Amino acid sequence: SLNGRTALVTGSTQGIGLAIAEALACAGAQVVLHGIEAAEQGQAVAARLQEQTGARCAYVQADLADETAAAGLVAAAAAALAPIDILVNNAGIQHTCPIAEFPAARWNAILAINLSSAFHTMKAALPGMRARGWGRIVNIASVHGLVASVNKSAYLAAKHGLVGLSKGVALETAAEGITVNCICPGWTDTALIQPQIEARAAAFGGDRQAGIRELLREKQPNLTLLPPSHIGEVAVFLCGPAAAGITGVALPVDGGWTAQ
Ligand code: NAD
Repeated sequence: SLNGRTALVTGSTQGIGLAIAEALACAGAQVVLHGIEAAEQGQAVAARLQEQTGARCAYVQADLADETAAAGLVAAAAAALAPIDILVNNAGIQHTCPIAEFPAARWNAILAINLSSAFHTMKAALPGMRARGWGRIVNIASVHGLVASVNKSAYLAAKHGLVGLSKGVALETAAEGITVNCICPGWTDTALIQPQIEARAAAFGGDRQAGIRELLREKQPNLTLLPPSHIGEVAVFLCGPAAAGITGVALPVDGGWTAQ
């Protein structure tokens, strides 16, 4: 059980982040949710989760495209609830486009939100984890941290970078009761992939299910979108006692994608 532990999950008002927050709260952790939504909106999500699970929950707003905000997030989360024992870097955005037309501003935003924010939050969280001799960091990378697909140059760079960064921090903290791991999801049923589903559906007269089938057929052998709750349960496992010896791994949860 994660009783007595405090978690911060970035980008957790929806999607995979919210599912991870729910799973951690159900496992007994108190959870600081984070997002870009205004305080009132985010606090409503936190209140719902607290009601649902009985775990204490709070909400902190920060735009992770902003380096200063990213660097201050862990302190703000600790102030909102308690010092952070479990850090889940989940916030992320996607933009698909051939490199020749890829807008530089999108490149910068993807690198900042999907990669640099994890550097800033880990840097800020580690001193406290070290002082307490216990910490768990789970970074949500992607299959695209391990293998490539076309038209995802920025996302690939950020996610491959996140896998490398996580391995490095795992080595720096390995003897201190801290683990640092990545989860590498395949197609997961969230808002993030809707533009890609719609682009595929367009080839089938707007048939969304046909678009989803086509995306899965191409890459994901289980032929099923992953439910975000499954990523949540894997995150809880990585934070639990049985995973104390697992550090520096990038764990695919991908229906067989990277086995090919
Ligand atoms: P999502 O769009 O539902 O969630 C993304 C979260 O990131 C949102 O809560 C959003 O508010 C937050 N975010 C976006 N921009 C931000 C900013 N500037 N500052 C702070 N937070 C910001 O999508 P999701 O699928 O739940 O994505 C969660 C993570 O999972 C991402 O890192 C994504 O790359 C990764 N992932 C998703 C899939 C998938 O198929 N859905 C697959 C592999 C990896």
